[in-house]
Amino acid sequence: MEELLRRSEKLTTVGQLAAGVAHEIRNPLTTLRGFIQLQQQTQKMNPRHIDLMLSELDRINLIVGEFLILAKPQATNFTPKDIRFIMGDVISLLDSQAHMLGIEIFLDAEVPTIVHCGENQLKQVFINLLKNAMEAMAEGGTIKIRIRVNAGQNAEIIIQDEGEGVPEELLPKLGEPFFTSKESGTGLGLMVSQRIIQAHKGTMEIDSIQGQGTTVTILMPALNHSKFK
Ligand code: ADP
Ligand code: MG
Repeated sequence: MEELLRRSEKLTTVGQLAAGVAHEIRNPLTTLRGFIQLQQQTQKMNPRHIDLMLSELDRINLIVGEFLILAKPQATNFTPKDIRFIMGDVISLLDSQAHMLGIEIFLDAEVPTIVHCGENQLKQVFINLLKNAMEAMAEGGTIKIRIRVNAGQNAEIIIQDEGEGVPEELLPKLGEPFFTSKESGTGLGLMVSQRIIQAHKGTMEIDSIQGQGTTVTILMPALNHSKFK
Protein backbone atom coordinates (compact mmCIF):
# COMPACT_ATOMS: atom_id res chain seq x y z
CA MET A 1 0.00 0.00 0.00
CA GLU A 2 1.16 3.48 -0.76
CA GLU A 3 1.70 5.82 2.12
CA LEU A 4 1.79 9.57 2.04
CA LEU A 5 3.59 11.67 4.56
CA ARG A 6 3.41 15.31 5.39
CA ARG A 7 6.73 16.14 6.92
CA SER A 8 5.60 19.37 8.54
CA GLU A 9 3.90 17.35 11.24
CA LYS A 10 7.21 15.85 12.15
CA LEU A 11 9.10 19.00 12.98
CA THR A 12 10.57 19.02 16.43
CA THR A 13 11.16 21.99 18.65
CA VAL A 14 14.55 23.67 18.87
CA GLY A 15 14.91 22.36 22.41
CA GLN A 16 14.37 18.72 21.40
CA LEU A 17 16.80 19.15 18.55
CA ALA A 18 19.46 20.69 20.75
CA ALA A 19 19.08 17.84 23.22
CA GLY A 20 19.44 15.32 20.40
CA VAL A 21 22.56 16.97 19.03
CA ALA A 22 24.14 17.23 22.46
CA HIS A 23 23.49 13.55 23.00
CA GLU A 24 24.79 12.45 19.59
CA ILE A 25 27.97 14.44 20.03
CA ARG A 26 28.57 13.39 23.61
CA ASN A 27 28.74 9.68 22.69
CA PRO A 28 31.73 9.93 20.35
CA LEU A 29 33.35 12.42 22.70
CA THR A 30 33.12 9.88 25.51
CA THR A 31 34.78 7.27 23.31
CA LEU A 32 37.52 9.70 22.33
CA ARG A 33 38.17 10.61 25.95
CA GLY A 34 38.40 6.95 26.89
CA PHE A 35 41.01 6.17 24.26
CA ILE A 36 43.08 9.24 25.05
CA GLN A 37 43.04 8.32 28.73
CA LEU A 38 44.12 4.78 27.88
CA GLN A 39 46.97 6.15 25.82
CA GLN A 40 48.00 8.34 28.74
CA GLN A 41 48.24 5.27 30.97
CA THR A 42 49.89 2.83 28.58
CA GLN A 43 52.11 5.38 26.81
CA LYS A 44 51.45 3.69 23.51
CA MET A 45 48.74 3.86 21.00
CA ASN A 46 46.96 0.91 19.41
CA PRO A 47 46.52 1.63 15.66
CA ARG A 48 42.99 0.25 15.84
CA HIS A 49 42.15 2.75 18.55
CA ILE A 50 43.53 5.53 16.38
CA ASP A 51 41.20 4.40 13.57
CA LEU A 52 38.26 4.42 15.94
CA MET A 53 39.16 7.86 17.22
CA LEU A 54 39.39 9.22 13.70
CA SER A 55 36.03 7.77 12.75
CA GLU A 56 34.44 9.23 15.89
CA LEU A 57 35.92 12.62 15.02
CA ASP A 58 34.57 12.29 11.48
CA ARG A 59 31.15 11.54 12.88
CA ILE A 60 31.16 14.65 15.06
CA ASN A 61 32.28 16.66 12.07
CA LEU A 62 29.43 15.25 9.96
CA ILE A 63 26.80 16.06 12.56
CA VAL A 64 28.13 19.57 13.14
CA GLY A 65 28.35 20.08 9.36
CA GLU A 66 24.69 19.24 8.82
CA PHE A 67 23.70 21.69 11.52
CA LEU A 68 25.83 24.50 10.14
CA ILE A 69 23.65 24.44 7.03
CA LEU A 70 20.60 24.93 9.23
CA ALA A 71 22.21 27.68 11.25
CA LYS A 72 22.82 29.87 8.20
CA PRO A 73 20.38 32.72 7.77
CA GLN A 74 17.55 31.26 5.74
CA ALA A 75 16.00 33.96 3.65
CA THR A 76 19.04 36.10 2.90
CA ASN A 77 20.60 36.05 -0.53
CA PHE A 78 17.62 34.39 -2.14
CA THR A 79 17.75 35.01 -5.88
CA PRO A 80 15.67 33.80 -8.85
CA LYS A 81 17.30 30.68 -10.25
CA ASP A 82 16.35 27.99 -12.74
CA ILE A 83 16.39 24.91 -10.56
CA ARG A 84 17.06 22.70 -13.59
CA PHE A 85 20.62 24.01 -13.56
CA ILE A 86 21.02 23.54 -9.81
CA MET A 87 19.88 19.92 -10.23
CA GLY A 88 22.17 19.55 -13.25
CA ASP A 89 25.16 20.60 -11.15
CA VAL A 90 24.27 18.13 -8.43
CA ILE A 91 23.86 15.31 -10.94
CA SER A 92 27.30 16.00 -12.46
CA LEU A 93 28.71 15.93 -8.95
CA LEU A 94 27.24 12.49 -8.18
CA ASP A 95 27.19 10.90 -11.62
CA SER A 96 30.54 9.11 -11.56
CA GLN A 97 29.81 7.67 -8.13
CA ALA A 98 26.39 6.57 -9.40
CA HIS A 99 27.94 4.84 -12.41
CA MET A 100 30.27 2.87 -10.18
CA LEU A 101 27.23 1.63 -8.28
CA GLY A 102 25.41 0.64 -11.47
CA ILE A 103 22.95 3.51 -11.08
CA GLU A 104 21.72 5.75 -13.87
CA ILE A 105 20.25 9.15 -13.17
CA PHE A 106 17.74 10.58 -15.68
CA LEU A 107 16.61 14.19 -15.63
CA ASP A 108 13.39 15.16 -17.36
CA ALA A 109 13.18 18.96 -17.25
CA GLU A 110 11.92 20.69 -20.37
CA VAL A 111 10.69 24.02 -19.11
CA PRO A 112 12.58 26.75 -17.24
CA THR A 113 11.55 26.40 -13.62
CA ILE A 114 12.49 29.54 -11.74
CA VAL A 115 12.26 29.80 -7.99
CA HIS A 116 13.36 32.43 -5.53
CA CYS A 117 15.96 30.44 -3.67
CA GLY A 118 19.18 29.99 -1.83
CA GLU A 119 21.16 28.08 -4.44
CA ASN A 120 23.51 26.33 -2.02
CA GLN A 121 20.67 25.34 0.24
CA LEU A 122 18.72 23.73 -2.61
CA LYS A 123 21.90 22.03 -3.76
CA GLN A 124 22.22 20.55 -0.31
CA VAL A 125 18.63 19.27 -0.45
CA PHE A 126 19.15 17.65 -3.85
CA ILE A 127 22.43 16.08 -2.71
CA ASN A 128 20.77 14.69 0.43
CA LEU A 129 17.87 13.19 -1.53
CA LEU A 130 19.96 11.74 -4.34
CA LYS A 131 22.42 10.24 -1.88
CA ASN A 132 19.56 8.60 -0.02
CA ALA A 133 18.25 7.22 -3.30
CA MET A 134 21.68 5.86 -4.23
CA GLU A 135 22.24 4.38 -0.79
CA ALA A 136 18.92 2.55 -1.10
CA MET A 137 19.89 0.96 -4.44
CA ALA A 138 22.50 -1.63 -3.53
CA GLU A 139 21.76 -3.53 -6.71
CA GLY A 140 21.81 -0.52 -9.01
CA GLY A 141 18.93 0.70 -11.16
CA THR A 142 17.54 4.04 -12.25
CA ILE A 143 16.76 7.27 -10.50
CA LYS A 144 14.25 9.41 -12.37
CA ILE A 145 14.06 13.11 -11.68
CA ARG A 146 11.34 15.31 -13.10
CA ILE A 147 11.23 19.09 -12.81
CA ARG A 148 8.36 21.17 -14.14
CA VAL A 149 5.99 24.00 -13.39
CA ASN A 150 2.62 22.49 -12.58
CA ALA A 151 -0.83 23.87 -13.29
CA GLY A 152 -0.88 25.67 -9.95
CA GLN A 153 2.29 27.66 -10.83
CA ASN A 154 4.35 25.60 -8.45
CA ALA A 155 7.76 24.25 -9.21
CA GLU A 156 7.48 20.48 -8.85
CA ILE A 157 10.54 18.33 -8.30
CA ILE A 158 10.02 14.58 -8.22
CA ILE A 159 12.83 12.18 -7.38
CA GLN A 160 11.94 8.54 -7.87
CA ASP A 161 14.23 5.63 -7.07
CA GLU A 162 14.05 1.87 -7.44
CA GLY A 163 15.63 1.18 -4.09
CA GLU A 164 14.70 -0.95 -1.14
CA GLY A 165 11.99 1.44 0.05
CA VAL A 166 10.91 1.94 3.64
CA PRO A 167 8.86 -0.51 5.70
CA GLU A 168 5.42 0.92 6.31
CA GLU A 169 5.82 0.99 10.09
CA LEU A 170 8.95 3.14 9.75
CA LEU A 171 7.42 5.76 7.44
CA PRO A 172 6.33 8.00 10.32
CA LYS A 173 9.94 8.11 11.53
CA LEU A 174 11.34 9.63 8.33
CA GLY A 175 12.55 13.14 8.94
CA GLU A 176 12.82 12.71 12.68
CA PRO A 177 16.24 13.94 13.71
CA PHE A 178 18.68 11.05 14.17
CA PHE A 179 16.39 8.41 12.72
CA THR A 180 18.61 6.29 10.50
CA SER A 181 18.66 2.71 9.26
CA LYS A 182 22.29 3.02 8.16
CA GLU A 183 25.33 1.98 10.09
CA SER A 184 27.08 5.29 9.60
CA GLY A 185 24.06 7.50 8.89
CA THR A 186 23.39 10.69 10.83
CA GLY A 187 19.63 10.66 10.36
CA LEU A 188 19.76 14.40 9.71
CA GLY A 189 19.54 14.66 5.91
CA LEU A 190 15.77 14.53 5.60
CA MET A 191 15.17 16.85 8.52
CA VAL A 192 17.63 19.43 7.23
CA SER A 193 16.12 19.14 3.73
CA GLN A 194 12.63 19.54 5.08
CA ARG A 195 13.60 22.70 6.94
CA ILE A 196 15.27 24.19 3.90
CA ILE A 197 12.21 23.51 1.73
CA GLN A 198 10.00 25.12 4.35
CA ALA A 199 12.22 28.20 4.31
CA HIS A 200 11.40 28.32 0.58
CA LYS A 201 7.66 28.24 1.39
CA GLY A 202 7.49 24.77 -0.08
CA THR A 203 6.50 21.26 0.94
CA MET A 204 8.24 17.91 0.74
CA GLU A 205 6.43 14.58 0.74
CA ILE A 206 7.78 11.05 0.74
CA ASP A 207 5.99 8.01 -0.69
CA SER A 208 7.64 4.67 -0.30
CA ILE A 209 6.79 1.07 -0.97
CA GLN A 210 9.07 -1.49 0.60
CA GLY A 211 10.86 -3.52 -2.04
CA GLN A 212 9.82 -1.18 -4.84
CA GLY A 213 11.20 2.25 -4.24
CA THR A 214 10.77 5.72 -2.89
CA THR A 215 9.44 8.92 -4.40
CA VAL A 216 10.11 12.35 -2.96
CA THR A 217 7.94 15.23 -4.19
CA ILE A 218 8.88 18.84 -3.54
CA LEU A 219 6.59 21.74 -4.37
CA MET A 220 7.58 25.38 -4.10
CA PRO A 221 6.26 28.61 -5.55
CA ALA A 222 7.55 29.22 -9.08
CA LEU A 223 8.21 32.70 -10.42
CA ASN A 224 6.58 33.62 -13.71
CA HIS A 225 9.27 32.16 -15.89
CA SER A 226 8.54 34.02 -19.11
CA LYS A 227 10.46 37.04 -17.76
CA PHE A 228 13.59 34.98 -17.31
CA LYS A 229 13.74 33.20 -20.62
P1 ADP B 1 20.69 9.08 6.78
O1 ADP B 1 20.76 9.05 5.29
O2 ADP B 1 21.92 9.63 7.43
O3 ADP B 1 20.26 7.77 7.39
P2 ADP B 1 18.35 10.73 6.32
O4 ADP B 1 17.63 11.72 7.17
O5 ADP B 1 18.85 11.20 5.00
O6 ADP B 1 19.54 10.14 7.19
O7 ADP B 1 17.39 9.47 6.07
C1 ADP B 1 16.82 8.83 7.20
C2 ADP B 1 16.39 7.41 6.86
O8 ADP B 1 15.29 7.42 5.96
C3 ADP B 1 17.45 6.57 6.17
O9 ADP B 1 18.34 5.98 7.09
C4 ADP B 1 16.59 5.51 5.46
O10 ADP B 1 16.20 4.51 6.36
C5 ADP B 1 15.34 6.30 5.10
N1 ADP B 1 15.37 6.77 3.71
C6 ADP B 1 15.52 8.07 3.29
N2 ADP B 1 15.49 8.16 1.94
C7 ADP B 1 15.30 6.90 1.49
C8 ADP B 1 15.18 6.31 0.17
N3 ADP B 1 15.25 7.07 -0.95
N4 ADP B 1 14.98 4.97 0.10
C9 ADP B 1 14.90 4.22 1.22
N5 ADP B 1 15.01 4.70 2.47
C10 ADP B 1 15.21 6.02 2.61
MG1 MG C 1 20.75 10.72 4.06
